[in-house]
Amino acid sequence: MRVLLLNPPLLTDPYTDDLVVNAPLSACVLTGYAGACLKQAGLDVAVMDADLAGLDVEATREQLLAEDFDLLGVHLKFLWGRTAEIMTMLQEIKREKPRIHLNLYGHYPTFAWEPLLRQFPFVDSVVLGEPELTLTDLARRLAGLDEGFWQDTAGLAVNGEGGPVQNSPRCAIADLDALPFPLRPSPELAARRNMHNYILGSRGCFGRCTFCYLNSFYGPGTVWRGRSPENIVVEIDEVYKTTGNPSFYFADANFFGPGERGRQRALELARLLKQRDFPLVFGLECRSSDVDEEVFAGLVEAGLRDVFLGVESGAQSALDRFQKGTTVAQNERAITILRRLGLNISLGFINFDPGTTLEEIRENLDFLQRMELLDCPSTTAHLFFHRQVVLRGTPAYNQLLARGQLRPVGFTAHEGEYTIVDPRAEAVARVMGRVCRLVLEITGGEDLYTARGPKVSCCGRVGDEGRSGLGEGLTAGGGNRSIPAHVQRQEIFRRLNLFLQDFLSRLLDAAGRGELNLGTVAGFVAAGHKEIGEIVRNS
Ligand code: SF4
Repeated sequence: MRVLLLNPPLLTDPYTDDLVVNAPLSACVLTGYAGACLKQAGLDVAVMDADLAGLDVEATREQLLAEDFDLLGVHLKFLWGRTAEIMTMLQEIKREKPRIHLNLYGHYPTFAWEPLLRQFPFVDSVVLGEPELTLTDLARRLAGLDEGFWQDTAGLAVNGEGGPVQNSPRCAIADLDALPFPLRPSPELAARRNMHNYILGSRGCFGRCTFCYLNSFYGPGTVWRGRSPENIVVEIDEVYKTTGNPSFYFADANFFGPGERGRQRALELARLLKQRDFPLVFGLECRSSDVDEEVFAGLVEAGLRDVFLGVESGAQSALDRFQKGTTVAQNERAITILRRLGLNISLGFINFDPGTTLEEIRENLDFLQRMELLDCPSTTAHLFFHRQVVLRGTPAYNQLLARGQLRPVGFTAHEGEYTIVDPRAEAVARVMGRVCRLVLEITGGEDLYTARGPKVSCCGRVGDEGRSGLGEGLTAGGGNRSIPAHVQRQEIFRRLNLFLQDFLSRLLDAAGRGELNLGTVAGFVAAGHKEIGEIVRNS
């Protein structure tokens, strides 16, 4: 029995390029863990990371056809309209190799197992939730190493006689220390992206945010589960020894466990990390409520450099609606502490959601300015246009659907489309979406201009280094030719950053007066684009 695990190419388009929510960061080690468990169970396993290798769909197809395997496990991600391209490729593989077992796993298949099995009957099975133990059981049954029909494997969904059926669920893995360390890409492959070594210190979250499907993936009632600090440092040492790369990033959705026990575990981990005999640097992701000065000071001494902070909003009413379980005051305090410790901060932020009001947008603007978080136009643009993406599996999807506020759209109806209840807020969101995208085209996503304090960025994708990015039809050049290009570019960035803040403020005023509404969006977009053009030409 030869098992091949595939990470397909991560296809994007201009719309989805700036969206970051099709899978949580922890998904990046899903295949590595599954592969390690299969290996430990005595199976012959290989990983094809087409995304990391930079293969397109055609090259992936060619490589798959050239490989010999019995079970193909595919970590399928939701790629909006482009998901179909991956499914078409898999159909071709199954046609050419009809005897293989084709399995899908990951967050997207966990929530979309039914339409996937119904619409693509060539798929043999789908893993629901954590793939490690289910895939291993499936492979051993297929290989005849264990008794039982593969169709009955717990944690699997299959096509039964009457259509797709779900087998008995499998409990989330309780003892993470018992798992083997995940398989990792070769150092040469990892070097292609200048990657951190991703490490998973915990799974799940004690939060219950309505826009997040992390806990739904692990199964109802699951809790935050952490590896022991000792187990984590053994893996870190091993990885450093193999790769020589001292840069690590905790892919945990929430680095901290709940309460005092979570705090003590973090302090113990910091103590052990400090003892490494190489120049370790690392990053992590957390909630504002877990930012404690003593703990973070310890982590900084151990090599912490980057923190992704799930701030989400500067308006308490929005935080409450998200059931974030945090306050604006906690957000402010967390940012202040992280700044004081000299950390690079990235923010998770949702400026627009189905319940957004004009007052909340204003509160967000005030919050971002007060906390000096709008330090370059790329960051500002990302923070201003982020609109909640509602995917199946999140509590928000079901709540909004039940209220008749959501239209399931797109591939396997996985995304929910909505209009903000307050049409004036919807109009502001639409204008900012178009205007911010033009600014991002011009800046290429670069963070060139920094206002004050340590750099802050937003969670959107950052464009290629060196992209000229002045945007279609826009060229700098109206300004003084004797000014060096980089100074001129810095001036464009500075003015764009100020423009975005002023423009949003003016939009809110116009919406309040009734001038900006769903019927006048196009005119405001055109006016915004015109002002941007003038900034670029006159700088
Ligand atoms: S804090 Fe909320 S958004 Fe973050 S991982 Fe937990 S549930 Fe998800």
